[in-house]
Order: sequence, then structure tokens, then C-alpha cells
Amino acid sequence: MAASAGPEIERLIGLLAKLPGLGPRSARRAALALLKRRDQLLLPLTDAMGEAARRVRTCQVCGALDTQDPCAICGDGVRDGALICVVEEVGALWAMERAGAFRGRYHVLGGLLSALDGVGPEALKIGPLVTRATAPEVREVILALPATVDGQTTAHYLAERLAGADVSVTMLARGVPVGGELDWLDDGTIAQAMRARRPA
Ligand SMILES: [Zn+2]
Repeated sequence: MAASAGPEIERLIGLLAKLPGLGPRSARRAALALLKRRDQLLLPLTDAMGEAARRVRTCQVCGALDTQDPCAICGDGVRDGALICVVEEVGALWAMERAGAFRGRYHVLGGLLSALDGVGPEALKIGPLVTRATAPEVREVILALPATVDGQTTAHYLAERLAGADVSVTMLARGVPVGGELDWLDDGTIAQAMRARRPA
């Protein structure tokens, strides 16, 4: 029984069970794997988590995670400041970077509008996006949002909010499958959707 594992181990299992994709059962397996591989797994992981907790920050410009703020992407003068790619979460930004199909800057919304979950515009980083889009060097805002109902609702809302800024607003092409979250797509699909983007 789980209760026989002792309070320290139960605490570890309880925390692991909060991770996405891990229920209590897989959390128990993960905890056991960590404890059995103390030197190869548990201690290096403790180190890595401590270092991440101390050093990783949210970029105040785009919302990416990095050890520097502004992040390496925002601070990279070679990247094209005329393009801003809007993504739901940092995971989608990482997927875009893995695909290597985009050399502009990003804006992480922090979620999607959702009537069902009660997420309104004020809960997302929309105001800062509109401000960024009005900067003179910005020419295009690419909405790289999932092809879900919430993703498309958010895209339409953003297109309206950005109408006052002097930028073209585009969306990824329908290489993205319906219901598709960006982080689940292969790099070729993302690259294709980026090349074939269309007006929002
Ligand atoms: Zn940044």
C-alpha cells in the first residue's frame, strides 16, 4: 500500500503526481525509479531542479523562459524584429524553435480565451502584445495558435485588437490538424504551416 512508504516518500510521490501526464500510479513508479538510482538520477535531478529554480526567469518582453531577461531570443540582434509570432505557451515556442522555421521574435500569451473555463482577455498577455505590435519596426504578427475552438476564438479576437496597429496579421496554414497543439506536431509540419501562412 502507498501509505506504507513513509512520509518523505509519500511527499515525493504526492509532488510528482502533480506533474502533467503523471497520475498517482506513475508518480509512484517514478519515485521508485529515482530512489533506486540515487547517483545516476535522483541527485543529478535534484541539482538540475535547484539550478532551474534559482536561475530560470520569465522574459518580461516575450514571456519565454530563460536564465536571462530579456531572453536570448529577444536579445538576439540577428533575429528579425519585424516579425512577432504569437504562441499559447512556452511549449509551442520551443516547438517552433525546434522546427527552425522562424527567425523573428515571439509573444507568449499564457493561455487561450475560453468561455467554458472563464478565461477572459485580461487573464492573457494581450495588452502587452498590442503595445509591442505598434512599435515602428514591427510589420507582421503571426498567430500560431492551435486549430481548436478556443485557439480560433483567440485568433479572431487578437486580429480585431490588432486592427488599429499598422501590421499585417497572419495565421499558420492548415497544415495544423484540427485540435492540434503545436508541441505535438513534427518539425516539418510546423515549418510547412509557417511558410504557407495566410491573412487572419
Ligand atoms: Zn524574450
